[in-house]
Amino acid sequence: MIDCKHVWDRFSEFLDDTLSPEARDLVQRHIEHCEICSAILDSTRNILILTADERVFELPMGFGERLHARLEEEISVLRREPH
Ligand SMILES: [Zn+2]
Repeated sequence: MIDCKHVWDRFSEFLDDTLSPEARDLVQRHIEHCEICSAILDSTRNILILTADERVFELPMGFGERLHARLEEEISVLRREPH
């Protein structure tokens, strides 16, 4: 089992479908068992859809940093929610 940080590192490739089948499988299986990562994947997907139209030419550069900043934000929100 890989941990959440490794999954986040692979999200952009996962969404771009550029992972190897093995790595893709690992991420997929982690997400099925991890509420936090599946929630983040959903919002990441939404962000990409929202930004894709107008910012398609900006995405490759600095995309990783923005995604990470966004993930940190999501995580801190999720951690604050009572269970
Ligand atoms: Zn996770």
